[in-house]
Amino acid sequence: MQNIRRVLVVGGGVGGLTAATALAQRGVEVILIEQRPAFNVPGIGLGQPANALRVYDALGLLDQVLAAGFTYDHMYIFDPNRSLIVDHKFLLGDHRIPANCALSRSDLHDILLGAAERAGVEVRLGVSTKALHDEGDRVTVDFSNGESDTFDLVVAFDGIRSTTRQYLVGTAFVPRPSGYSAWRVQVPRPDYVRGMEFLQGVGSKTGAMPLNRHLMYLFHIRPEDPEAYFPREQLVDLFRERLAQYGSYVAEISASLTGDSDIVYSPIEPMLLPWPWFRGRVVIGGDAAHTFPPHLTQGAAMAAEDGYILAREVLETDVPIEARLMRYSEQRYARCAFVYSFSRGWMEEEQSVRTPEQLEKARAELAQNASTRIGVSDRILNSRILEDRPVPRV
Ligand SMILES: Cc1cc2nc3c(=O)[nH]c(=O)nc-3n(C[C@H](O)[C@H](O)[C@H](O)COP(=O)(O)OP(=O)(O)OC[C@H]3O[C@@H](n4cnc5c(N)ncnc54)[C@H](O)[C@@H]3O)c2cc1C
Repeated sequence: MQNIRRVLVVGGGVGGLTAATALAQRGVEVILIEQRPAFNVPGIGLGQPANALRVYDALGLLDQVLAAGFTYDHMYIFDPNRSLIVDHKFLLGDHRIPANCALSRSDLHDILLGAAERAGVEVRLGVSTKALHDEGDRVTVDFSNGESDTFDLVVAFDGIRSTTRQYLVGTAFVPRPSGYSAWRVQVPRPDYVRGMEFLQGVGSKTGAMPLNRHLMYLFHIRPEDPEAYFPREQLVDLFRERLAQYGSYVAEISASLTGDSDIVYSPIEPMLLPWPWFRGRVVIGGDAAHTFPPHLTQGAAMAAEDGYILAREVLETDVPIEARLMRYSEQRYARCAFVYSFSRGWMEEEQSVRTPEQLEKARAELAQNASTRIGVSDRILNSRILEDRPVPRV
């Protein structure tokens, strides 16, 4: 069987950097291209649950990730005035791996980029793919800078607007507006915010995720017109209006927002590509193959798992490369389908609370059942998917 010795990774996000590092640590020659001219990582923070932390552990990065972030093992659901409804202790992690660690996106990115470079990955910035020519036993790639090169495999983690997905399946499967959007801003952390928090409101949900000793991010999820465009200078007023029903620290933060506050607005556009996630010698993972509502904090976590498992499967030499890519697709689809349906269901349920009476009903239902529901998800996500076979060396 043919070994995979030279790989192009497309995209320098969590998924691409994880795949590139896992492959390069096993002796594969890896070239990673990123279309942006510099790594100025957009977005705010990321919760990384135990399953993602296990991937970083396998790459030798656990200590660095934990040192950069804030670990927590509880999730709380409150009413709009932060009166407690649910206290859930995550059934994630073990004696070595915490249930969750949240950190700033740029810190996680720096850690992964450092690991990729130490493993020997060649990173080319400001370069994107222009055309892919699958030639059976190799792929020739034309780049945006006019150069061409040949690889045993192209691994694309090129994000939600993936052109590689389009190369594989056309426009049959694309992210579609859910009708809901997320508002986020990074703010100082009150000392008492020590875990993931949701404040269930009427017609929206707000919450917080601690990022380190000093900072957290505040998020807010609500229905928005998918076509809406909000000019930058209006974001503070619009965000403030949307937070009006909430008390406690949300009201304080709302009052303290200024024109300098870095408010990030993102429509939620879920998608799940059916397997297989490859054609010939071109394979995708991460947001290119699946995007979820953020409720389980699993988007980047699944991208990291995809990257690591992909490296493991393609470096097996017991079957032809197509069978290895099929094994990857089947394993990853099942797990991502769970995250997709669970997080969509959760978002629809919380957003269906539209009147004060429905909030009272939801309060009783959440108090009785929410922790059990999230516990079921914890058990599935905490199942060991990395240990059965380590990534082989080429
Ligand atoms: C509101 C919100 C909150 C979230 N919260 C969390 C959370 O708490 N925890 C979590 O795990 N996830 C969370 N996510 C999801 C997470 O952000 C994504 O799932 C994750 O970043 C996807 O990683 P990726 O590597 O697949 O793609 P990306 O991070 O999008 O990286 C893709 C990269 O590819 C590059 N690229 C694209 N096309 C090309 C090309 N042709 N050539 C070269 N380069 C190219 C892009 O410039 C980009 O750098 C959240 C998402 C949202 C919207």
